[in-house]
Amino acid sequence: MQQDNLIIILADISGYTRFMVENRTSAVHGQICINSLIEAILEQVDIPLTLQEIEGDAVFLYARNPGDETLWQNLAQEISSKLLKFFDAFISATGVNIESTPCGCAICRNADKLGLKIVVHAGEAVFHELAGRPQVSGPDVILAHRLLKNSVPGNKYLLLSDPAFELMGQHLKGDFEAFIETYEGFDPLTVRVRFLEEDFLAARDAIYSRTEAERADLIDNYFSWVERMLQPAAVAQMRKPIRSFSLFERMLMVWDSVAGLWQFRRTFRSKILAEQNVRGMRRTQFAQPLDLRPNEERISS
Ligand SMILES: [Zn+2]
Repeated sequence: MQQDNLIIILADISGYTRFMVENRTSAVHGQICINSLIEAILEQVDIPLTLQEIEGDAVFLYARNPGDETLWQNLAQEISSKLLKFFDAFISATGVNIESTPCGCAICRNADKLGLKIVVHAGEAVFHELAGRPQVSGPDVILAHRLLKNSVPGNKYLLLSDPAFELMGQHLKGDFEAFIETYEGFDPLTVRVRFLEEDFLAARDAIYSRTEAERADLIDNYFSWVERMLQPAAVAQMRKPIRSFSLFERMLMVWDSVAGLWQFRRTFRSKILAEQNVRGMRRTQFAQPLDLRPNEERISS
């Protein structure tokens, strides 16, 4: 066992459940959101970041001090740029998805209410192995997890504890607001929060400053993304459903993800572009999204 400095990153993906339970479509579409969030984070996971685990509603990553102050500072800078890359990629992709989806399920029509919380803490931990897998533990690991529950309003932000902010703050863009959090067994802790709500809205607005040809490409990419994500999400919901679904519903989940898809693309490709042209602005600024759900779902809700 060895004690070392480390940076801990926790990405919280809670807050999907209440929308996912509506029907089978929202269950699968929520699963797509969760999978793509995890995928976007994992894309940034490379040395020096280690994925500890995906713990239910959170992804837990850390980076260990290589034992040299200059290397440690460089590493902090590298992780900061990974965080920024992650945010830029994820936020712009989410913007396109929200403005392109023709779906009216609970997840898609509430996509702007889905959360993204990233908590970063720097401290010390004991490094050891458990059944051949590297593990970290100690008070700072506990504190990092507690920071997921905090007094910060809203559900889209990047939160750095003061020690993490000291290490990485100068490399991160944007304005940070200070909050003080108190947890049993720990001294009051100042945290710095960068709210991301505006970034999501800006990404959605940016779509409408593009040419029609560029937006047609975005929509094509969106469909390719749905095609790639839909089946694994349906399989995940079959294996570990958010609530119990009947056999018939589960069969429909598979049907939707296989046969329904090509029809979906054929029907909606030009409709989405036309709808965006008419709308000309972010859809929450304008009106509720069109209800394009299949009839059976419209009747049942
Ligand atoms: Zn949907």
